[in-house]
Amino acid sequence: MPNDKQTVLIVDDDVNSRKMLREQIKSMAKIILAKNGMQALELAKEHQPTLILLDVMMPIMNGFSVLEQLKQSEQTQHINVIFITALDSHVDEAYGLKLGACDYIHKPYHYEIVNARVSTHLELAKQRKLLEDLAHYDSLTMIPNRRHLEEHLEKECHKASLSGEPICIALIDVDSFKSYNDNYGHRAGDFVLKKVARSLKLSLTRDEDFVCRYGGEEFCLILPNCDLNRAKATLEKCRASVQELTIEHNFSGILPVITVSIGGYLLVPDDTADIENILIKADSYLYQAKHLGRNQVKLEHELETHLTNKSQALPAF
Ligand code: GH3
Ligand code: MG
Ligand code: MG
Repeated sequence: MPNDKQTVLIVDDDVNSRKMLREQIKSMAKIILAKNGMQALELAKEHQPTLILLDVMMPIMNGFSVLEQLKQSEQTQHINVIFITALDSHVDEAYGLKLGACDYIHKPYHYEIVNARVSTHLELAKQRKLLEDLAHYDSLTMIPNRRHLEEHLEKECHKASLSGEPICIALIDVDSFKSYNDNYGHRAGDFVLKKVARSLKLSLTRDEDFVCRYGGEEFCLILPNCDLNRAKATLEKCRASVQELTIEHNFSGILPVITVSIGGYLLVPDDTADIENILIKADSYLYQAKHLGRNQVKLEHELETHLTNKSQALPAF
């Protein structure tokens, strides 16, 4: 699971306030500074900080407006904001909290209070992230799980439909895994799944390529911006990498080692593409790979037909 260092963005038009705050909390997180609201919005988008310490009274765009804009953007609405203010009115404080700030710190600072509040909110954010990761990662293999896949596939298909770039979705299934469990035990089977997950992950070289545990002994790949040659080469690399682990399986009926079968589907989705249907297609090609003898890749594509006649698939190669 990812384990990124936390970042705090300090926003204050007064240079001394910015620097003093930074000195105070720099041991707790990576710190970045912004001197006005516009810069704060840009840096928040770019750096995705865990927490923003946001001055209320700033010229041109005050802290309330900054928070409103942060909340309007999908990229920044989740970021926690603590207002820092010299305003001493309950009405202002209530207004800021209603806008979605998670806390208030009053100027002049009491540094113990600043430290305690920042530390509390960083800890809360850490725990929230851990829960999110647990919900999105598979606890056995530590790669993303099916829930993560569904969200990711939705996003990638949307991007592909806008860019017109092909995307490859592949399902990977361990061959004769029932007989592996029956003969070597379930614990040994679990160990195999971990090793297979790791070797699939290592077979992917680009940041945008994605592998997850689809369920049981099945895995799913998403390869965005992927032409036919790349799809072929990547799926074949995945298949070979598992065979090359040379994990003994004397009851496989294919080779005396653990192998996988892969069903891949390469397409340019349109904006009405149904995720479920794409996965069903990939599954049908996986079924064919099994039927043809296992330990192989069956890749189908709709690239040329997408440009001419979407309803007609090209034959397999
Ligand atoms: P095929 O080549 O057709 O895929 O045959 P198979 O034996 O792999 O397929 P089958 O669907 O009959 O069996 C899948 C096995 O995977 C059965 C199940 O016990 C095992 N399995 C599923 N999840 C896990 C797991 O988390 N750990 C272990 N050890 N085994 C698992
Ligand atoms: Mg299976
Ligand atoms: Mg299987």
